[in-house]
Amino acid sequence: MDTVLDSYVAGSWVRPDVPGDPAHDAVTGEVVARASAHGIDLHTMAVHARTVGGPAVRALTFHQRAARLKQLARHLGEHKDEFYALSRRTGATDRDSAIDVDGGIGTLFSYASKGVRELPNDVVVLDGAPEQLGRAGTFLGQHLYVSRPGIAVQINAFNFPVWGMLEKLAPAFLAGLPTIVKPASQTAYLTHAVVRRIVESQILPEGSLQLLCGAPGTLLFELDEQDHVAFTGSAETATVLRNHPAVLHRGVRLGVEADSLNCSILGVDVRPEDPEFELFVKAVVVEMTAKAGQKCTAIRRTLVPHAMVGPVVDALRERLAKVVVGNPADPTVRMGALASSAQRDEVRRAVAELRGSCDLVFGDPDHVTVVGADAREGAFISPLLLRARPDAEEPHEVEPFGPVSTVIGYADTTEAVRLAARGRGSLVASLVTHDPEVAREVVLGLAPWHGRVLVLDRDDAAESTGHGSPMPTLVHGGPGRAGGGEELGGVRGVLALMQRTAVQGSPDVLTAVTGRWTKGSRRLTGETHPFRKSLAELRIGDTIVSAPRLVSRADIDHFAEFTGDTFYAHTDPEAAAANPLFGGIVAHGYLVVSLAAGLFVDPDPGPVLANFGVDNLRFLTPVKADDTITVTLTVKEVTPRISADYGEVRWDALVTNAADEPVATYDVLTLVAKQWPLPDAAAAEG
Ligand code: NDP
Repeated sequence: MDTVLDSYVAGSWVRPDVPGDPAHDAVTGEVVARASAHGIDLHTMAVHARTVGGPAVRALTFHQRAARLKQLARHLGEHKDEFYALSRRTGATDRDSAIDVDGGIGTLFSYASKGVRELPNDVVVLDGAPEQLGRAGTFLGQHLYVSRPGIAVQINAFNFPVWGMLEKLAPAFLAGLPTIVKPASQTAYLTHAVVRRIVESQILPEGSLQLLCGAPGTLLFELDEQDHVAFTGSAETATVLRNHPAVLHRGVRLGVEADSLNCSILGVDVRPEDPEFELFVKAVVVEMTAKAGQKCTAIRRTLVPHAMVGPVVDALRERLAKVVVGNPADPTVRMGALASSAQRDEVRRAVAELRGSCDLVFGDPDHVTVVGADAREGAFISPLLLRARPDAEEPHEVEPFGPVSTVIGYADTTEAVRLAARGRGSLVASLVTHDPEVAREVVLGLAPWHGRVLVLDRDDAAESTGHGSPMPTLVHGGPGRAGGGEELGGVRGVLALMQRTAVQGSPDVLTAVTGRWTKGSRRLTGETHPFRKSLAELRIGDTIVSAPRLVSRADIDHFAEFTGDTFYAHTDPEAAAANPLFGGIVAHGYLVVSLAAGLFVDPDPGPVLANFGVDNLRFLTPVKADDTITVTLTVKEVTPRISADYGEVRWDALVTNAADEPVATYDVLTLVAKQWPLPDAAAAEG
């Protein structure tokens, strides 16, 4: 087998000029692959991304991009066996591979779903409502997000060769950016296999994904102010990148996820007999042993009340003693190998440093019994538990990137928060407590120092996704030492890669620019009721202005009796007169909305299939008995659904009284057929 990894450059697989350093099988020590970027044309890669990939992605709407991600997730799911087999060579058990492989595919699915549900079927995203900047309403401002004509470069860590790529690719693709992936050389062969499957599927437009195996060399010099580099790895490399001339002088944006001394805190309320005690111990062991502790989110510091240090250490030792270490292919094995012997040397070095102020209470850094493999060939290490001596410094400074955690005692909740903060910013912290007051105090104390905080107790344990799992819908990243970056978080992760611009202009201009009707812009009235128009025929601004309708006291009484809403302001003249806001009987707000619907609907069967909700409903002026109301309904936004024969129409509803004061404003949400008559009905008639 040819072990030299080629790179995917401008539509072709290109072999490097020299083979590069070997990456070894973590279990057997055999050479799996060699990664080198020697001779790879980085300039061509950047130009191809900019001129071919970017325009192709940006020609698609968010919904079309989301559909591609879904298709891609399905396609990769069909090749999981191949990825799992390679993943074992990185030292991962199948449970570890699920985090990497299934976690990555799940992230694609999640973004596909978010892209359709939370982004428009367009290429522009509006941020907030228009801001009126002049008194007459002829000059407005609207924030919007647009795609940048740039490149998303990812420089990934060795520990998640699949998830690490896909969790960055999905938001970048939705944001309209082509991606260049540079995997860590140690495990690049797995990323390479996934990229091969992606390329052969032709699901993503050409140029939207390229792969660079080996050192990134001068790649950053090809980048400029429209480009973004997402880095995951060591603090040292992060510092090199932060000081790169492209970042310092050319405005290249850099997102960093570096090391992190995450902690888990046992609440002051928890006793050994409580279910939370067991949950805590189990979570620490899971985080120590999953991916052999090579997770940026792993629990490095285990903070427990002083009185609980002994019981927690005993319980952890008991559980750790049951962890079977060895060949990940063996079904009895619970913890596989580290990714390489160099990584193991790093862990041993870090543990030696920790021992300056901590005692080793479980495991031996130099000896481990392994199952199904030769301990001398693979990068195996035992789980290692330490117990901090008073005032220990090292656990708050040294990151052992392996199956290592340190138990640290604390006096009270204030001290627990203070110790957590000594990590100087982490990706995640967890708190195990069943006391809501402890939860509030600790969570609010931890939040400024962490990107994510998990509170675990008997009530959420069964469904909890765990301390160490970043969720595609929640932000991943932490302040300070953790790098200060922020990834994922659903649509937040997409918008972070787009440009936010405040556009100022007249309402008509804003309607034209945004594709969404803006208050104050032209309304189109005509012969045909907009409810008789299909999605294809509707125009932004199409409007129906209803006839006026009198709201009588009999209407109000009837509504009160019919619905049971006999609140005094609608039924008791004396009490209503004393109400400082109304000064007499007023119509129910929902009566106004119901009457408005009666005024604007066109009752016969037609292209409007359903009303699925109302947004932003506000009652502005009370309607008294014998007031007259009129409704103006205007097409605000039209969103065809890719996978259905209908789309969503958002209507601006404005109810006014006889004095032309606004009584109620809201958006009506409907589903409207793309064609009318419906194609099936038309065919049947034909
Ligand atoms: P590195 O920072 O060495 O490597 C991360 C990525 O950066 C790799 O793709 C690497 O490529 C690339 N890289 C290295 N040097 C440069 C450079 N000068 N310019 C551009 N890219 C560069 O981290 P490792 O993955 O080797 O892990 C080392 C340590 O980092 C771990 O032991 C752990 O402590 C920490 N770590 C933290 C993680 C976290 O998320 N918190 C995740 C992984 C690691 P190549 O592989 O080709 O050298």
